[in-house]
Amino acid sequence: MSAADAVTDALRELRAEFIGVREGQLADYIPKLTLADPDAFGLALVSMDGHRYSMGEAEIPFTLQSISKPFVYALALSVLGLDEVGRWVSAEPSGEAFNAISLEPVTGRPANAMVNAGAIVTTALIPDTPDEPAFDRILHCLGSFAGRRLDVDEEVYASEAATGDRNRALAYLIRSAGTLPVDPVAAVETYFRQCAVRATAVDLATMAATLAHGGVNPLTGDTVVSAEVAAQVLAVMATCGMYDASGDWLLRVGLPAKSGVSGGLIAAGPARFGLATYSPPLDASGTSVRGHAALGALSRRLGLHLMNNPALPGSTVTLATTADDLPSAPADDRERALRERVGVVAAQGALDFTAAERVLYALDESGPERTGSVVLDLREVTTIDSVALAMLHTGLSRLAGDGWRAAVVDPADRLGPPDLVRERTGQDLPRYASREQAVQYCAHALPGAG
Ligand code: GLN
Repeated sequence: MSAADAVTDALRELRAEFIGVREGQLADYIPKLTLADPDAFGLALVSMDGHRYSMGEAEIPFTLQSISKPFVYALALSVLGLDEVGRWVSAEPSGEAFNAISLEPVTGRPANAMVNAGAIVTTALIPDTPDEPAFDRILHCLGSFAGRRLDVDEEVYASEAATGDRNRALAYLIRSAGTLPVDPVAAVETYFRQCAVRATAVDLATMAATLAHGGVNPLTGDTVVSAEVAAQVLAVMATCGMYDASGDWLLRVGLPAKSGVSGGLIAAGPARFGLATYSPPLDASGTSVRGHAALGALSRRLGLHLMNNPALPGSTVTLATTADDLPSAPADDRERALRERVGVVAAQGALDFTAAERVLYALDESGPERTGSVVLDLREVTTIDSVALAMLHTGLSRLAGDGWRAAVVDPADRLGPPDLVRERTGQDLPRYASREQAVQYCAHALPGAG
């Protein structure tokens, strides 16, 4: 037993709750997929620290099918960039089934890379290199997302290749519209092989976690794609990943997701986790019935909806007051009067744009307007990202420009090395190791302090 088994317990409860659901049909247009066990139900979660949790049939390999699409799209974006990929495949929700025979009216491009038409094009965009044919690059990339080498289920591949005329028709249609850069037969064969790559729910949760983690695989630490590409892929998954059910999914579940006709379903909580489920019976839009129910319930219970980010106002600025209110203030009247004119703001945690705005607002509120000087205490700040750093530098230089005194308590140099701070703020910002030293400086540097 361990404390983190609470996460496993949540997965166990979901499995117990939805294992009895009997709706849904196995995909049968790829004959080999009808051999799947309709009772199998596996769930897996991988955290940003690479902690893995799973329940049920989470170690059974099955074919990725359409879950391969976002990852091959990621590879295409990495190799060619968004502008070039965008010339061939659009990024609009189609409102149609995954296998719709349909292209964008004027441009002839497929609607997005999550429907078959778009995925066939995305796959076709991956060029061979001198050492690696395109399919090997794809397989290698899928393996980097999963954190282990993956392989192809040759029987499922052969089964789809024998019956996949609809996808071939689609490839010829795209070719006739001028938006398929290679031979349609070759494009579809590579696409079928990518759909037949085999992985488990735990692998899929790792793949989703890699996208959620800015392109860095949380198990291996490898940078699989850039943070920019990971965000682009998640955006398309959010708007198009569930085909004609994408709007309702984003509304109710609120997570970028992708389903596949073999029964897999992945969802990613950006900067939080990767999730995957495996349960073969599908609903009418080709999504696992139990997977949909389980991820929906999980999102509601754990408050995972992307648009649901309640701000935690107390969490950044921990103190906004004047120095006479600090417990360290002496009883001496003259000292107290000086300290009334020193604002003190303390912040904590990781500072990003939102947090930096709170800090700057607190400086204005408790600081110079009313007092004449301000101490910014950054001892409990763990990191400052580049946007927040630029904002703090600008804010401090504006204070100086307005003629106010500022001092920082920054023993760890979170604001950057002194040279950089001088350059960015236009001043030698006094920095102290303790809050009391900074308060003393500000109190006695005030005009009239003597
Ligand atoms: N290989 C399948 C197809 O092209 C993938 C479809 C899916 O998983 N939605 O039809």
